[in-house]
Amino acid sequence: MPKRSTDTAAPAPEFAARRELLAWYAKERRDLPWRRTRDPYAIWISEAMLQQTRVETVIGYWTRFLARFPDVRALASADESDVLTAWSGLGYYRRARSLRAAAQAIVARHDGKFPRDAEAVRALPGIGPYTTGAVLSIAFDQPEALVDGNVVRVLSRWFAHDAPAAAAQRWAWERARELVPKSKGAGEWNQALMELGATVCTPRSPACERCPVAKACLARARGLENVLPRAKERPEPIDVELVAWVVERGGDVLVEQRPETGRMAGLWQLPTEQRSPRRPQLFPAELGIELTPGPELGLLRHAITHHRIRVVLQRGTVGRARVAAPLRWVPKAELGTLALTGMARKALAAAFGRPNLE
Ligand code: SF4
Repeated sequence: MPKRSTDTAAPAPEFAARRELLAWYAKERRDLPWRRTRDPYAIWISEAMLQQTRVETVIGYWTRFLARFPDVRALASADESDVLTAWSGLGYYRRARSLRAAAQAIVARHDGKFPRDAEAVRALPGIGPYTTGAVLSIAFDQPEALVDGNVVRVLSRWFAHDAPAAAAQRWAWERARELVPKSKGAGEWNQALMELGATVCTPRSPACERCPVAKACLARARGLENVLPRAKERPEPIDVELVAWVVERGGDVLVEQRPETGRMAGLWQLPTEQRSPRRPQLFPAELGIELTPGPELGLLRHAITHHRIRVVLQRGTVGRARVAAPLRWVPKAELGTLALTGMARKALAAAFGRPNLE
């Protein structure tokens, strides 16, 4: 699609709108726990958690994570399984592993202090331009820009920039770098843009009537606020059907660890098999144990990226044979201490009625 950008020279109302946006943010911003600190470590953790996860969910995780790993050194020296357990339920587990790896790099390269230099921050494992901009601007008030989905949306609408998704992202970075205050207030500015996108300039039905930049907004003036930014083309969802075995012995539950590589590597789940039209009957022997299928306990649905997963919970029983890795018996009361996949949390909560596992 040809670019129909209208962002020529910065319009004069832009300056008033910027002031309005900052004033609005000072008054209306949500009181979130990570906004009460300038500790770069705490801000970094919040930014890592907030990617792909709702604020309401992150608050509890962030509070518990900070209590468990209060600083860079605590995270660097933690066992990976403990970090994954604290992360369990947030998804995208590579982020948790990267956090720990980056903490170790900060200890090794920067004596445990979060670096203030953008190059040094970007060189840490798993830290990209967004997180670099967020931590440096919010914690140290450095004039670093950032762009996330909220910022792309706000800027695309404010300046009526019409381009395919990838080009809009690149354009938003350029624009954000131009707009970020160069002397002081970069952190407030970046957060104001994101807050506007999260609470007012939302993906559907933006609340233009209470928007602080409405007078300068070109998308609103042209009736494009529900059109921009252009949506990414999403791949067709893939349907997957799984069977998760609920196997108990005494007070123990049989769990399975996922392989060390690939998606959700190393996390725990109920022993799980894929079912397909060509393979309607299960072969529990593939799990490495003699398992006798019992009744189906229920059905749950789960979504991971573009997979739509239907999970049949099915009871199974095993004899006295010892189980070997990747299977393991775990006391039912200790299930919550494992680094579980999100799907396993749902399945266990459904099987045992333990809402705290969800
Ligand atoms: S006026 Fe509407 S479309 Fe424009 S930035 Fe504000 S909320 Fe978004």
